[in-house]
Amino acid sequence: MGPEAVYGAWEAQVVDVPERSRLYSLTPIGIGTPQVESLSGYVSRLAEAHALSVGDLVGRESMTRTRGTSWKRRIFRPESRPMAQLFHATAYTINGVSSWALKWVRILERLTCCGHLDVLTLLPLRKTVSDMFLFKRSRAWCPQCYEADRTTGTVYERLLWTLRGVAVCPVHVTALEGRCPFCHKVLPPLAAHSRPGYCSSCGRWLGKELGASRPNPNPAEGDYELYVATTAGELLARCSTARRLSKARFSRNLRICIDRLASGNTKAFAELTGASRGAVQSWATGKMRPRLDVLMRVCFRVGIPVGCLLTSRRLDAVNWTTITAHFPNDSRSVKASRTSDRTRDSDISYSRNQLMSLARQYESLPILAPGSIELRVPESGIAQLSYAGLPLDTIDDLLPTSPAYRQVSQILDPQPVSLNTRPLTPLHKGHIGLLSTAGLLNGVFGSGDRLHVAAWKTKKRVIKTEETEDEKITIREREQFVHELAVAFANGETALIE
Ligand SMILES: [Zn+2]
Ligand SMILES: [Zn+2]
Repeated sequence: MGPEAVYGAWEAQVVDVPERSRLYSLTPIGIGTPQVESLSGYVSRLAEAHALSVGDLVGRESMTRTRGTSWKRRIFRPESRPMAQLFHATAYTINGVSSWALKWVRILERLTCCGHLDVLTLLPLRKTVSDMFLFKRSRAWCPQCYEADRTTGTVYERLLWTLRGVAVCPVHVTALEGRCPFCHKVLPPLAAHSRPGYCSSCGRWLGKELGASRPNPNPAEGDYELYVATTAGELLARCSTARRLSKARFSRNLRICIDRLASGNTKAFAELTGASRGAVQSWATGKMRPRLDVLMRVCFRVGIPVGCLLTSRRLDAVNWTTITAHFPNDSRSVKASRTSDRTRDSDISYSRNQLMSLARQYESLPILAPGSIELRVPESGIAQLSYAGLPLDTIDDLLPTSPAYRQVSQILDPQPVSLNTRPLTPLHKGHIGLLSTAGLLNGVFGSGDRLHVAAWKTKKRVIKTEETEDEKITIREREQFVHELAVAFANGETALIE
C-alpha cells in the first residue's frame, strides 16, 4: 500500500490570505443611526479590547511612529508626571472636521483594516459646517444608555454626546451627565485611562438604572434641547450614508428658504430666525460655513431639520404648507419686499439657472395627469411699445460730419474722379475716344428736359471683303474700333450712337 492511499494528496494550491490587521478589526457600532459611535470612543474600546490603557495604545503603539509627533501634541497634552503615556485629549478634536481628525482616521483604518472610519467623526460635514464650537470640552454621557449597553452587548460612547449644544439623551429624554458621581470630577474627552462606561479618574462604573437620573435643570429650555438632540442625531445618521455633502447644496437650500419664507429678504429672514444678517448673507452666498449650534437654532425657528437643510437636494421632501403656517410672517418682510419690487439681475440669473438645471433633468420631473393643469391668463390692456435703444436715424445723419468717418470714407465709399476743368486745346476725335474708354465721360449731364445718363463703350467691329480675280477668291478682314454712346433721357427716351 503506497503512502498516497494512506495520507491522500497534498493540496498544492496557494490560499489567498487576506491582509492581517495590526490591531483587532473591531466593527464600529451604530453606523447610519443617530446613536453612531465616536472615534474617541472607538479608540478607548480598541484599547480595552487589547487589555491596554488608551495611554499605552496611543503613546506606544505604532500609530505614533508615523513622521513626527507634533500632530499628536496638538490634540493630547502630556500630564506633568514623567511617564510619557499619561496624557489627556484637550478636546474632541479627533471627532471633528480638521486635518488632525483625518490623520487619526487614516492611521486607525490602516491599523485595524476597517474602512470608512470617517463616519465616526464629523468629517463628512467638513465642507459644510464650520469647525468652531463643534464639541464640548469635557466628556458627557447618558448613564441609562451605558446601563442598557451593558445588558444588551457592547458599551460604547456616542458621537452625539460630544456635540456642543446636545444636553439631553434623545432615547431616554434625560439630561446628559458631565461629572463623575463618585469622585465629582469633570472628565476629559479621552484620557490615558479612558474606558467606555467607566470614570477615567476613579475607574468606577458610570451607568445607572432608569429613573435614578438627574432631572432636567432647565425645563423652559427642555423642548429646544430635545429638538437639538433629535435633529443632531438625524444629521449624524444622514451624513454617514450621504457622503457627498457640499457647501453649494446648503447655500442653495438656504436661499430657497429665504425666498419662500421671507420673500427673498435676507434681513427679514435673519431677524425672524434670530441669526445675524451678515451670517445669513455669507452662508447664502457660500462665503462662510455655518456654526453647527447657530445653524440648529435657525433650523428650530424655521422648522426644517438641520440634516435636511444640509443634505437634501433642493429641499424636495419639505412640506412648505406646514412650515409657512408655523413660520412667523411679520409685516416687515412684506413691507420690505414691496420696496424692493424691482426685479434684480441676480434673481433673473438664479431663476434662469434653476430652469436650465431643471431642463437637463427632465426625467426626474413628475408626470402630469392629463387635464390637471389650468392656466388662466388675465386680460391686459393695449401694450405700448417704445424703442429705448440707440437713435439710429440721428446717428445716421450725424455720421458724415464726424472726422473719423471722413477718414474711413475714402476706403469705404470712394468717389469717382471727376474732371471739372476745361481742356487747354479743343478735343479731337481721338481724345474723346481715349476719355470715353477711360470712363471719364460717363455720368449724368444736362438739365431739365435734356437731363440724361451717358455711358460710353468701346466695341470691335470686323469688316469682311471678298474679291474674285482669275477664279481666285480673296477674303480680307479689317478690324475697326468704334465708340458706342448709350444715352438715357429723363423723359424715358433712349438713344444709341456710334
Ligand atoms: Zn440615554
Ligand atoms: Zn470618578
